[in-house]
Amino acid sequence: MNFITALLVLLLVAVSCKKAPMKPSFGSSNSESEPESDDLQEVEDETYPNDDEDEETSETDGADKTTQPDKGSKEIVTPNTFELSLAKLEAAPKKGETALFKLSIANKGSKSGKTKITPFITAKDFEDYSEIRLPSLEVSLSGSEKKDVEFKIEPFFKEEGGNREYALNKGNYSLKFKVEGDYSGEWPSNDFAVQGSNAVFTAVYWSQPYLDKQGYRGSIQDYLRETFTRKSQTSNGANLFASYDKGFDQMMGVRTMFKIYDNWRPDFSRWDGVQILEQVEEEGKKRLGLKQKFQGSSGEDMTHNANHGYDMSIGLTEHGFGGLAWVGGNTQASGVFDGDTSVGRSQMVMIHETGHNYGAPHCDPIQGFVMCSGEKHDHYTNGDLWFVWHDVSIEKMVKAKRMLQNQNQKAAAFSLAPASVSSRPVKHTLIHD
Ligand SMILES: [Zn+2]
Repeated sequence: MNFITALLVLLLVAVSCKKAPMKPSFGSSNSESEPESDDLQEVEDETYPNDDEDEETSETDGADKTTQPDKGSKEIVTPNTFELSLAKLEAAPKKGETALFKLSIANKGSKSGKTKITPFITAKDFEDYSEIRLPSLEVSLSGSEKKDVEFKIEPFFKEEGGNREYALNKGNYSLKFKVEGDYSGEWPSNDFAVQGSNAVFTAVYWSQPYLDKQGYRGSIQDYLRETFTRKSQTSNGANLFASYDKGFDQMMGVRTMFKIYDNWRPDFSRWDGVQILEQVEEEGKKRLGLKQKFQGSSGEDMTHNANHGYDMSIGLTEHGFGGLAWVGGNTQASGVFDGDTSVGRSQMVMIHETGHNYGAPHCDPIQGFVMCSGEKHDHYTNGDLWFVWHDVSIEKMVKAKRMLQNQNQKAAAFSLAPASVSSRPVKHTLIHD
């Protein structure tokens, strides 16, 4: 566990409970969790084929079937007839964007032929991210032909012929190319860099009962997007609110991007609080093919170099335990309260835990804000359903601030000039124990 010692685990408590509305209890899972062992169904191991699957087989099936040279009319691409160069990047890739590459290939020979070029990517700043195979390119060239061939790397990608999952995070990379066919060999590596951005690569493990319990009919992608762009406001502690129609992402100046992994079934028979976070981290090992469980980051680092380029991880479950997150870390688990299964409440749980991950503790004794009894705020309860943050929470959310400093960007929430100011008269709800 790489977390700094100051990290705490905080439990979001069901403050909507009528019995003790303003008495949240922290650190204890007893009040809200209902360990359920009946969820222990078979693990779907068959969805994770072995890593040692025969690569040669997978490499030669598919497209090759149509490109096998006809023995009767042999087309030979002789050595030294090709000349390959990575002419240029279509655009300097930024974190979160699809990286486009163009290979300029020239056939210096007079005969036509075909070849297969396989790119391999190596990240210089990350572990277990070396010579990761990407999909091959089939190229046909006639004699003396020159051709530009494009290929792309998506922000999230899976290694070809294997099970490891990667994200194209900020940093330095190299590409090399294996060439097969009558011509075989390797071209020298080509270096490139991915520029930083405000994108946050987030792996999400979930299962359908999470949405079913809330009666949500859309997709999990829609749900996550809604959650992170759900309209939010900040209070400076006086009668002034800044409003962010695009929610948490706009407020923090980030763009949260999700890679979804279905059928996460945490084991609640072993529930003891922190254990659920460790299960999310273990799921990262399994789903992303990490060498070890998903490693924690501190508030100083958005990205741990052992997480295949991923920044954050979220586990979503229908269990009614509330939520749990590392403060200043990168992992959370969020559930659906049994006593309030509404979409708004469950989305608030997730965004509250995200606040923890970005560094915010609970804002006690102040109440009525996202990090403390957020569903009690007038702007939430009056039907507008704003998520309202207090600036004592925003101040602590240093992860986004540090990340954005690297990009010369500023989170709107840290700015003295809010994006817009609500004309609504503010009724400041402060409730003390
Ligand atoms: Zn909390």
